[in-house]
Amino acid sequence: MPATTSPKPAPQTFRVKSFGCQMNVYDGERMTEMLAAQGLTQAGEGVDADLVVLNTCHIREKAAEKVYSDIGRLRRDDGSRPMIAVAGCVAQAEGPEITRRTKSVDIVVGPQAYHRLPELIAKAAAGEVALDTDMPAISKFDALPARGRSARVSAFLTVQEGCDKFCTYCVVPYTRGAEVSRPWGQIMDEARALVDAGAREITLLGQNVNAWTGEDDKGRVQGMDGLARELAKLGGLERIRYTTSHPNDMSDGLIAAHGDEPKLMPFLHLPVQSGNDRILKAMNRSHSVDSYLRVIERVREARPDIALSGDFIVGFPSETDAEFEDTLKIVEQVRYAQCYSFKYSPRPGTPAADMDGQVRPEVMDERLARLQALINRHQVEFNAATVGRRTDILLERKGRHPGQLIGKTPWLQSVHVTVPELFIGDMVEVDIISAGPNSLAGEPSRRKAA
Ligand code: SAM
Ligand code: SF4
Repeated sequence: MPATTSPKPAPQTFRVKSFGCQMNVYDGERMTEMLAAQGLTQAGEGVDADLVVLNTCHIREKAAEKVYSDIGRLRRDDGSRPMIAVAGCVAQAEGPEITRRTKSVDIVVGPQAYHRLPELIAKAAAGEVALDTDMPAISKFDALPARGRSARVSAFLTVQEGCDKFCTYCVVPYTRGAEVSRPWGQIMDEARALVDAGAREITLLGQNVNAWTGEDDKGRVQGMDGLARELAKLGGLERIRYTTSHPNDMSDGLIAAHGDEPKLMPFLHLPVQSGNDRILKAMNRSHSVDSYLRVIERVREARPDIALSGDFIVGFPSETDAEFEDTLKIVEQVRYAQCYSFKYSPRPGTPAADMDGQVRPEVMDERLARLQALINRHQVEFNAATVGRRTDILLERKGRHPGQLIGKTPWLQSVHVTVPELFIGDMVEVDIISAGPNSLAGEPSRRKAA
């Protein structure tokens, strides 16, 4: 017998709130497009919506717990609440537990099943708690409406989902399922639709995006390099990026593409997680410090100006002070342009959560502060080294000041420019005149023909 709530009027307006990674941002956009195609209206900023979709993240405990405080905040002054759908990885990981923990949720839908939202909304309107955490391979992509409506100048395109690597700390293989590559033709169609709708940059997304593989339209097996090279032929598409990559999947072809495909941007997010081999082994990372550094060296040989980014976890179970110092050493060696760093967060059901030697929170705090201070120093240095350089930026959005626009360099730095005759979507050549820790300021050197 299905759980019930009270029947509700079918929603007319909706809001999707996405948390976590870029893949969630992409899923949020696809849900928005699908609900709009169903005739629902997206509620404006600050306006009450009939349906709120919380597109959640389960990667760390804090992110996962956030959903419950957000649900509480959706209660209106008169005690009523909108129809609430919990989507994303918390929905996948916790499933029916969510509706046991709170009576305020009407729909629970996993990241592989959100194309069924319209049916779930109908069920919820009938007063049934609607739950769908199926993983029907990648059929959601076949069921979703074509792209285009909400395309941005810099658009995301998910090409690969799930993960078979099973790092011992990570929930992704459980919440997103096995590694699946979307077919070549489907990706090309979506890319064309995005470009037709105004996208000039596409970032290909996947949990292990560089493991993407598939057959091209001539039946030849291709990898991420082949995909990027084919996308580069699309007129109107100026820039291609991809994230997140695994060190073991940096193929020779992909490294070479960084050297000779001008539309492939000189930026690589390549997480290593730790600078110590014993910890990497305990994490089941399947690469060593040396093999990682060798990949970096080869990428730099192919594209000397490439900007590198990474992810680090401090306080993995049993990590000693000396092992943490090794992480500082690898950061010092690589000198990343920017990095993400996290305190280890035990995730239910992952092997590391049951490992001996869980590190005390205050030790993790101290390690994270030291690591972030070093990463920030390198980021400031990287940005400062751009001052005086002439480079193209792609204008993506408005800045805070009148007439100000914000664009991105090929190395993914934000640049503020104030020139009235420029528009979002323009590619413009600028001289970088100053740099801060998080952004640069530029002056157009000359308008580039679009
Ligand atoms: N597939 C990517 C890779 O292999 O690097 C990463 C995907 S994961 C969504 C993003 C980052 O979250 C990871 O690189 C890792 O640094 C961090 N992360 C994952 N699980 C974590 C945990 N249990 N505690 C802290 N950070 C975690
Ligand atoms: Fe998680 Fe590891 Fe897979 Fe990345 S490679 S998604 S960290 S299991």
